[in-house]
Amino acid sequence: MATIDWARYHSIVVLTGAGISVASGLRPYRGPGGLWSEIDVDRVVTAAALARDPRQVWAFFAEARRQVLAASPNPAHVALARLERRLAPGQAMVVVTQNIDGLHQRAGSREVVNLHGSARRWRCTRCEARGEGEAPEACPACPTCGAWMRPDVVLFDEYVAAEAEWRTKRALRDCDLFVAVGTSGTVTPAANFVRSARYAGARTVLVNLEAMAPRDPEFDEEVLGRAEEVLPALVGD
Ligand code: ZN
Repeated sequence: MATIDWARYHSIVVLTGAGISVASGLRPYRGPGGLWSEIDVDRVVTAAALARDPRQVWAFFAEARRQVLAASPNPAHVALARLERRLAPGQAMVVVTQNIDGLHQRAGSREVVNLHGSARRWRCTRCEARGEGEAPEACPACPTCGAWMRPDVVLFDEYVAAEAEWRTKRALRDCDLFVAVGTSGTVTPAANFVRSARYAGARTVLVNLEAMAPRDPEFDEEVLGRAEEVLPALVGD
């Protein structure tokens, strides 16, 4: 298996996708057995659905929130948190995650970009009001302005939050090691991010269960296996 001498790198970016949380009992959204395959995506998790019926969007993510609150970080999340803790002065690392489960933070990672928001948070559809934690079962009205509240996640047809996008771009610009874990290397955002990282001169590694087909030449290396087994081995003690 590939080895990584982490101490050699000054600016490490780790992109994580659904595959890193499977061992925590969270199902991937896409692919066989994925949540998205069971629901009518166009009706439930789009900007248009939110405009039409915010209560239906809320109900869908209430279920996602229950699963997330019941899940615990697995050895893959823990390994990344350990890696961050042992960085030397002058080394930086950021985890950019597509997941909305908050498991990186719960494992102890500090520099985390939630590209797609968080299942644990919600916000007003009109004003700046926000909430977090134990959410009401039914879609609540905003305590400030009375509009519907909504999950603080990025729905289909919505943009990634400006702050998340800015932090990601900044990290990729400086990056000398890019590792994508548990996400398809051949679709966005991994496919875009790896191109930026390569342009910046980074070494690029994909850790995933399935081999890329076709293989994306932007990735220097591909490590096949379960994230919860591969990452602890790659990171070491
Ligand atoms: Zn409001």
